Amino acid sequence: MKQSHSSVQQRAIKIIQMLRGATKRMPKTASTLIIERYGKSPYLILISCLLSLRTKDTTSYPASCRLFAKAKTPQSMLKLRLSAIEKLIYPVGFYRNKAKSILSVSEDILDRFDGKVPNSKDDLLSLHGVGLKTANLVLAEAFDVPAICVDTHVHKISNRLGLVKTETPDETESALRELLPKKYWIEYGRLLVIWGQNICVPISPFCSECAIADLCPRIGVTRSR
Ligand code: SF4
Repeated sequence: MKQSHSSVQQRAIKIIQMLRGATKRMPKTASTLIIERYGKSPYLILISCLLSLRTKDTTSYPASCRLFAKAKTPQSMLKLRLSAIEKLIYPVGFYRNKAKSILSVSEDILDRFDGKVPNSKDDLLSLHGVGLKTANLVLAEAFDVPAICVDTHVHKISNRLGLVKTETPDETESALRELLPKKYWIEYGRLLVIWGQNICVPISPFCSECAIADLCPRIGVTRSR
Protein backbone atom coordinates (compact mmCIF):
# COMPACT_ATOMS: atom_id res chain seq x y z
CA MET A 1 0.00 0.00 0.00
CA LYS A 2 1.36 3.44 -0.94
CA GLN A 3 2.08 5.59 2.11
CA SER A 4 1.16 9.27 2.21
CA HIS A 5 3.86 11.94 2.08
CA SER A 6 3.10 12.96 5.65
CA SER A 7 3.30 9.43 7.08
CA VAL A 8 6.67 8.86 5.36
CA GLN A 9 7.84 12.24 6.64
CA GLN A 10 6.78 11.39 10.20
CA ARG A 11 8.63 8.08 9.99
CA ALA A 12 11.75 9.88 8.69
CA ILE A 13 11.64 12.31 11.61
CA LYS A 14 11.21 9.44 14.08
CA ILE A 15 14.24 7.72 12.51
CA ILE A 16 16.31 10.91 12.94
CA GLN A 17 15.27 11.18 16.59
CA MET A 18 16.21 7.55 17.27
CA LEU A 19 19.53 7.77 15.44
CA ARG A 20 20.60 10.77 17.55
CA GLY A 21 20.88 8.49 20.57
CA ALA A 22 21.97 5.36 18.73
CA THR A 23 24.98 7.01 17.04
CA LYS A 24 26.27 8.87 20.09
CA ARG A 25 29.05 6.44 20.93
CA MET A 26 29.98 5.54 17.35
CA PRO A 27 33.21 6.73 15.67
CA LYS A 28 33.00 10.25 14.26
CA THR A 29 33.05 10.85 10.51
CA ALA A 30 36.18 12.20 8.81
CA SER A 31 34.56 15.61 8.24
CA THR A 32 33.71 15.93 11.96
CA LEU A 33 37.28 15.00 12.87
CA ILE A 34 38.65 17.56 10.39
CA ILE A 35 36.46 20.31 11.91
CA GLU A 36 37.49 19.34 15.44
CA ARG A 37 41.15 19.46 14.47
CA TYR A 38 41.29 22.46 12.12
CA GLY A 39 38.08 24.41 12.81
CA LYS A 40 35.42 25.27 10.25
CA SER A 41 37.80 26.03 7.40
CA PRO A 42 35.82 25.82 4.14
CA TYR A 43 39.00 25.12 2.17
CA LEU A 44 40.12 22.22 4.37
CA ILE A 45 36.61 20.77 4.50
CA LEU A 46 36.45 20.93 0.70
CA ILE A 47 39.85 19.29 0.16
CA SER A 48 39.21 16.57 2.75
CA CYS A 49 35.88 15.82 1.08
CA LEU A 50 37.60 15.44 -2.30
CA LEU A 51 40.04 13.00 -0.69
CA SER A 52 37.21 11.00 0.89
CA LEU A 53 35.40 10.26 -2.38
CA ARG A 54 35.25 6.48 -2.88
CA THR A 55 37.70 6.03 0.02
CA LYS A 56 37.10 4.92 3.59
CA ASP A 57 37.31 7.60 6.31
CA THR A 58 40.02 5.57 8.06
CA THR A 59 42.23 6.12 4.99
CA SER A 60 41.15 9.60 3.91
CA TYR A 61 41.37 11.28 7.34
CA PRO A 62 45.07 10.49 7.98
CA ALA A 63 45.82 11.41 4.33
CA SER A 64 44.11 14.80 4.83
CA CYS A 65 46.17 15.40 7.98
CA ARG A 66 49.44 14.55 6.18
CA LEU A 67 48.54 16.97 3.38
CA PHE A 68 47.40 19.76 5.72
CA ALA A 69 50.66 19.48 7.67
CA LYS A 70 52.30 20.81 4.47
CA ALA A 71 49.60 23.17 3.14
CA LYS A 72 46.41 24.64 4.56
CA THR A 73 45.60 27.36 2.01
CA PRO A 74 45.17 27.45 -1.79
CA GLN A 75 48.33 29.57 -2.00
CA SER A 76 50.50 27.13 -0.06
CA MET A 77 48.92 24.12 -1.82
CA LEU A 78 49.98 25.53 -5.20
CA LYS A 79 53.58 25.64 -4.00
CA LEU A 80 53.56 21.84 -3.68
CA ARG A 81 54.50 19.71 -6.67
CA LEU A 82 51.94 17.29 -8.06
CA SER A 83 54.18 14.33 -7.17
CA ALA A 84 54.52 15.57 -3.58
CA ILE A 85 50.73 15.77 -3.18
CA GLU A 86 50.37 12.28 -4.67
CA LYS A 87 52.87 10.95 -2.17
CA LEU A 88 51.21 12.67 0.79
CA ILE A 89 47.68 11.47 0.00
CA TYR A 90 48.56 7.91 -1.05
CA PRO A 91 46.84 5.40 -0.57
CA VAL A 92 43.47 7.19 -1.04
CA GLY A 93 41.59 5.85 -4.06
CA PHE A 94 42.36 7.59 -7.37
CA TYR A 95 45.17 9.51 -5.64
CA ARG A 96 46.68 10.66 -8.93
CA ASN A 97 43.43 12.22 -10.18
CA LYS A 98 42.68 13.64 -6.75
CA ALA A 99 46.11 15.31 -6.56
CA LYS A 100 45.38 16.98 -9.92
CA SER A 101 41.92 18.05 -8.70
CA ILE A 102 43.38 19.54 -5.52
CA LEU A 103 45.73 21.72 -7.57
CA SER A 104 43.10 22.79 -10.09
CA VAL A 105 40.50 23.54 -7.40
CA SER A 106 43.06 25.61 -5.50
CA GLU A 107 43.99 27.54 -8.65
CA ASP A 108 40.32 28.10 -9.48
CA ILE A 109 39.56 29.38 -5.97
CA LEU A 110 42.42 31.86 -6.24
CA ASP A 111 41.64 32.97 -9.81
CA ARG A 112 37.86 33.20 -9.68
CA PHE A 113 36.94 33.57 -6.02
CA ASP A 114 39.68 35.73 -4.58
CA GLY A 115 41.15 32.84 -2.59
CA LYS A 116 37.93 32.06 -0.73
CA VAL A 117 35.78 28.95 -1.14
CA PRO A 118 32.41 30.16 -2.48
CA ASN A 119 29.29 29.60 -0.39
CA SER A 120 26.76 29.10 -3.17
CA LYS A 121 25.88 25.72 -4.63
CA ASP A 122 26.27 26.86 -8.24
CA ASP A 123 29.71 28.36 -7.63
CA LEU A 124 30.86 25.27 -5.76
CA LEU A 125 29.63 23.03 -8.57
CA SER A 126 31.59 25.14 -11.07
CA LEU A 127 34.87 24.11 -9.40
CA HIS A 128 36.77 21.33 -11.14
CA GLY A 129 36.08 17.93 -9.54
CA VAL A 130 33.29 19.18 -7.25
CA GLY A 131 30.01 17.28 -7.54
CA LEU A 132 26.71 17.57 -5.69
CA LYS A 133 27.82 15.51 -2.68
CA THR A 134 30.93 17.62 -2.11
CA ALA A 135 29.11 20.92 -2.70
CA ASN A 136 26.42 19.98 -0.18
CA LEU A 137 28.95 18.84 2.40
CA VAL A 138 30.83 22.14 2.16
CA LEU A 139 27.59 24.16 2.35
CA ALA A 140 26.38 22.18 5.38
CA GLU A 141 29.59 21.76 7.35
CA ALA A 142 31.51 24.91 6.49
CA PHE A 143 28.73 27.47 6.05
CA ASP A 144 25.79 25.98 8.04
CA VAL A 145 23.63 26.34 4.92
CA PRO A 146 20.83 23.72 4.89
CA ALA A 147 21.93 21.01 2.46
CA ILE A 148 21.67 17.22 2.34
CA CYS A 149 24.97 15.52 1.67
CA VAL A 150 24.09 12.26 -0.06
CA ASP A 151 26.92 9.74 -0.35
CA THR A 152 26.49 6.06 -1.20
CA HIS A 153 25.50 5.27 2.43
CA VAL A 154 22.78 7.92 2.58
CA HIS A 155 21.49 6.87 -0.86
CA LYS A 156 21.38 3.16 -0.04
CA ILE A 157 19.90 3.44 3.46
CA SER A 158 17.23 5.97 2.41
CA ASN A 159 16.07 3.40 -0.17
CA ARG A 160 16.27 0.46 2.27
CA LEU A 161 14.15 2.49 4.68
CA GLY A 162 11.61 3.19 1.94
CA LEU A 163 11.90 6.94 2.43
CA VAL A 164 12.78 7.37 -1.24
CA LYS A 165 12.68 5.18 -4.34
CA THR A 166 15.60 6.35 -6.44
CA GLU A 167 18.39 5.09 -8.65
CA THR A 168 21.21 7.56 -7.97
CA PRO A 169 22.53 9.67 -5.05
CA ASP A 170 21.59 12.87 -6.94
CA GLU A 171 17.98 11.67 -7.32
CA THR A 172 17.97 10.77 -3.62
CA GLU A 173 19.15 14.26 -2.72
CA SER A 174 16.27 15.88 -4.53
CA ALA A 175 13.69 13.35 -3.19
CA LEU A 176 14.91 13.97 0.37
CA ARG A 177 14.67 17.73 -0.11
CA GLU A 178 10.98 17.19 -0.97
CA LEU A 179 10.45 14.89 2.00
CA LEU A 180 12.33 16.46 4.90
CA PRO A 181 11.75 19.86 6.50
CA LYS A 182 14.88 22.01 6.05
CA LYS A 183 15.84 21.96 9.71
CA TYR A 184 16.66 18.23 9.42
CA TRP A 185 18.73 18.34 6.23
CA ILE A 186 22.23 18.65 7.66
CA GLU A 187 21.60 16.26 10.55
CA TYR A 188 19.99 13.58 8.37
CA GLY A 189 23.12 13.29 6.20
CA ARG A 190 25.44 13.16 9.20
CA LEU A 191 23.43 10.49 11.01
CA LEU A 192 22.99 8.23 8.01
CA VAL A 193 26.67 8.33 7.11
CA ILE A 194 27.54 7.08 10.62
CA TRP A 195 24.75 4.45 10.43
CA GLY A 196 26.04 3.25 7.09
CA GLN A 197 29.59 2.96 8.35
CA ASN A 198 28.63 0.96 11.44
CA ILE A 199 25.25 -0.83 11.17
CA CYS A 200 23.53 -0.48 7.82
CA VAL A 201 26.69 -1.43 5.93
CA PRO A 202 26.44 -1.86 2.14
CA ILE A 203 26.69 -5.67 2.05
CA SER A 204 24.84 -7.70 4.68
CA PRO A 205 23.73 -5.00 7.14
CA PHE A 206 23.49 -5.73 10.90
CA CYS A 207 19.68 -5.70 11.03
CA SER A 208 19.60 -7.79 14.23
CA GLU A 209 21.44 -4.98 16.05
CA CYS A 210 19.64 -2.09 14.40
CA ALA A 211 17.92 0.47 16.63
CA ILE A 212 15.55 1.51 13.84
CA ALA A 213 14.65 -2.00 12.65
CA ASP A 214 10.99 -1.55 13.67
CA LEU A 215 10.77 1.46 11.35
CA CYS A 216 12.53 -0.22 8.41
CA PRO A 217 10.86 -2.29 5.66
CA ARG A 218 14.39 -3.41 4.58
CA ILE A 219 13.68 -2.80 0.91
CA GLY A 220 16.16 -4.61 -1.35
CA VAL A 221 17.98 -6.27 1.57
CA THR A 222 18.56 -9.89 0.61
CA ARG A 223 21.26 -10.78 3.11
CA SER A 224 21.65 -9.47 6.65
CA ARG A 225 23.22 -10.33 9.98
S1 SF4 B 1 16.92 -2.77 9.66
FE1 SF4 B 1 18.67 -3.41 8.42
S2 SF4 B 1 18.32 -2.43 6.42
FE2 SF4 B 1 17.00 -1.36 7.91
S3 SF4 B 1 18.23 0.40 8.59
FE3 SF4 B 1 18.57 -1.27 10.04
S4 SF4 B 1 20.42 -2.30 9.29
FE4 SF4 B 1 19.62 -1.05 7.61
